[in-house]
Amino acid sequence: MTDTVLCKDQTVAYVGNIVTSAKYDPPESIRMTTGIKDFPHRVIMRKNIVTVNGKSINYVAPKEMIQKVAGSNGAVYTVKTIGGTVTCDCPGFNFRKTCKHIAMVK
Ligand SMILES: [Zn+2]
Repeated sequence: MTDTVLCKDQTVAYVGNIVTSAKYDPPESIRMTTGIKDFPHRVIMRKNIVTVNGKSINYVAPKEMIQKVAGSNGAVYTVKTIGGTVTCDCPGFNFRKTCKHIAMVK
C-alpha cells in the first residue's frame, strides 16, 4: 500500500511507503521511501505533517522538561527530556550518548 503524507507549506504530498525509522533518525520523525535511487528515504518531522493518507494528524508536542545539573568541574549542564528521550549538553554525553548527569535527574 502506498502512503501519502502532506506537510505544512506544501501543495504536493509525498508519496511512498512509511517504513521503520533508523536508529539515528530524530525522535518524533517518520521515515518514508521516495522511489528515487540516490535518495531512497526521506525523514519527516511529525510536527510538520498535516495529513497521512488523507487523515488529519493532530500533533501533540511531547512533554518537555529542562533541568540544570551541576557538573563536578563547576560547570552547569542542561539535561533535556523530550518525549522520553533524554539528552545532556556536556562533552561526555556528546561523545558517549550517556552521562552521569542524566542519572542525577531521574
Ligand atoms: Zn551530562
